[in-house]
Amino acid sequence: AEELDVEAIRADFPVLDRRVGDSDLVYLDNAATTQTPEPVIDAITEYYREYNANVHRGLHQLSQEASIAYEEAHDTVAEFIGADGREEVVFTANTTMAENLVAYAWGLNNLEPGDEVVLTQMEHHASLVTWQQIAERTGATVRYIRVDDAGRLDMDHAREIVGPDTAMASIVHVSNVLGTINPVAELADMVHEQDGLIFVDGAQAVPNRPVDVAAIDADFYAFSGHKMAGPTGIGVLYGKERLLESMEPFLYGGEMIEKVTYEDSRWNELPWKFEAGTPPIAQAVALDRAIEYLESIGMDRIAAHENSIAQYAIEQLHAMEGVTVYGPPAGAERGGLVAFSLDTVHAHDIASIVNDHGVAIRAGDHCTQPLHDTLGIAATARASFYVYNRREEVDALIEALDAAREIFA
Ligand code: PMP
Repeated sequence: AEELDVEAIRADFPVLDRRVGDSDLVYLDNAATTQTPEPVIDAITEYYREYNANVHRGLHQLSQEASIAYEEAHDTVAEFIGADGREEVVFTANTTMAENLVAYAWGLNNLEPGDEVVLTQMEHHASLVTWQQIAERTGATVRYIRVDDAGRLDMDHAREIVGPDTAMASIVHVSNVLGTINPVAELADMVHEQDGLIFVDGAQAVPNRPVDVAAIDADFYAFSGHKMAGPTGIGVLYGKERLLESMEPFLYGGEMIEKVTYEDSRWNELPWKFEAGTPPIAQAVALDRAIEYLESIGMDRIAAHENSIAQYAIEQLHAMEGVTVYGPPAGAERGGLVAFSLDTVHAHDIASIVNDHGVAIRAGDHCTQPLHDTLGIAATARASFYVYNRREEVDALIEALDAAREIFA
């Protein structure tokens, strides 16, 4: 893909002009949350300045405008991820709530003792804790596909544990720690052959690369607005229409009903059946704008840019002494993030010292405690990249790491 004009893109993100102490901000915590470009900020302020109103029920002008914008945001998302239409796109608060929606609305009502839920050793707590708890409540068993030494799923092991008892698999598309891009289409085939369902956690995929839920044949797919140049407070659950149709609601209340009596209620049509209460309206119109923004750059080019910065970071890290880099080896295609550790400095000290140089990275278990147990380390440092990051920002990170090593030498 043709290279990005990073400087032009940076000009769209006001926060990137910030200073942190005596340094320019170097923002490398994009896997946690990305920054927000001017057009998305504008979408939010336009909404509140011009047509803030509750949706669906209103007959007045503002409510009609808000309703159209809110509903059309579903169409934009559907087109962006290759869904059939707005019926398949449910707005949630975030990826975590999407995972919980399916776990409660499908899992609680369908899992039984003897059923198996297949996860991977690299699942985020959003899916791991959720399915663990729903399995406990239903008597189902959780099984984990192993991660090999190169940070990839052991597909032989996957073939061993996916079987006739597999009722649901929840698989992370791109690991938020290892950067591994998992073969989710192949796993979907494997699970479907056993009449199971697959939920794909795309929190680290949709923001960074082209994703087509139909090509994957995912039954459910989830991601968050705040990791893709969009606002906080909104996430997406994609679900195949026939599955969403067959499921009980997750939350009850206004907006999700068609007919209510004192005795009983009937549910609204999709996707509103799963959107009880006043939804995230400002966030939806802003997410719509974020998608437009990302598409104007091109998801292929974004993926190539991030991969190239991640490769550069891996090379630079390997050139340092006493560094361990986790995940697929240099050269392998991966998500735009790198988790690492230094032998002499704890991850939290790394993050705090590089912050003194204006560099924002994250340290900890990144909501993957069991994976860190498997890696044999309590915490890692993680640098994660987005469309606006420059190579020189990797250099700034490396310089700051050198300073950290000197302090602890
Ligand atoms: N899954 C993965 C792979 C993630 O990286 C994250 C965000 N850290 C989540 C799920 C949860 O996203 P959210 O906090 O927006 O619900």
